[in-house]
Amino acid sequence: MALAFEEYDDFDEAFSKLLELLEFDLSDPFKDVEKVLCVEPHPDDCVIGLGGTIRKLTEGGIEVTYLLLTDGSMGTTDEGISDHELALVRMREEEESARLLGVDRIIQLDYRDTELPYSLEARKAIIEVIRSEKLDMVLLPDPWLPYESHPDHVAAGKLTLEAIAFSPLPNVARQDLHAGLKPHQVERIGFYYTAKPNYFVDITDVMELKLKAVRAHRSQFTDEIWEKWEPFLRTIALYYGKMGGVKYAEGLRFMPGLFLHITPFSELV
Ligand SMILES: [Zn+2]
Repeated sequence: MALAFEEYDDFDEAFSKLLELLEFDLSDPFKDVEKVLCVEPHPDDCVIGLGGTIRKLTEGGIEVTYLLLTDGSMGTTDEGISDHELALVRMREEEESARLLGVDRIIQLDYRDTELPYSLEARKAIIEVIRSEKLDMVLLPDPWLPYESHPDHVAAGKLTLEAIAFSPLPNVARQDLHAGLKPHQVERIGFYYTAKPNYFVDITDVMELKLKAVRAHRSQFTDEIWEKWEPFLRTIALYYGKMGGVKYAEGLRFMPGLFLHITPFSELV
């Protein structure tokens, strides 16, 4: 028989009951999800972090859209290519890579690579996307990945979390309401590029396709770079795979929205 909440005197029992109340279920976080937004700081991040997962989602009929925050114009050591040229090349590569995974929509906010501002303006731009796309799930880089040194990655994670938190509040960016965009609550939130995964997608059967889709970013992965990056990416997939009990996996961390604010036990999920 279920207890009334005030009758719980043990934290562990109350904690699992609370997760039940929040309908937080890690056995199948994609259950009933129809529209997913994958937020990426640069044109190759969704495929590197989640290429296998994205392929499986689109195969299952789930619509995945990318939200690309910057133009990728700094990602080169070649002195012969300008920022403008590189941004164009990278967008073409991104479209080809996305197509391999069954993704045909890419929304681009076009901030300058390496200079994604941690600003109200950027947060509002993401809120507008969340409200207009009416998403069930948002996937984003974990801004607390230890030693992550790229500011665009940290800013992308934080801005997106703030946007998710404020999208349901009509007084935040009220101009959206006047433009016909209703407040919107994103029900599921998952981090990729995370050191604290709590869910694993077995990507063993799509690993080669994932690598092909990563490699579609030819400006980023020359033969010389790929010599190190292929082993690097396979090792990451084996790392998550070992935790998940399969060969190759992608690790995600799903969180109840409520636990992303003032919560001392968020890491227990
Ligand atoms: Zn990146």
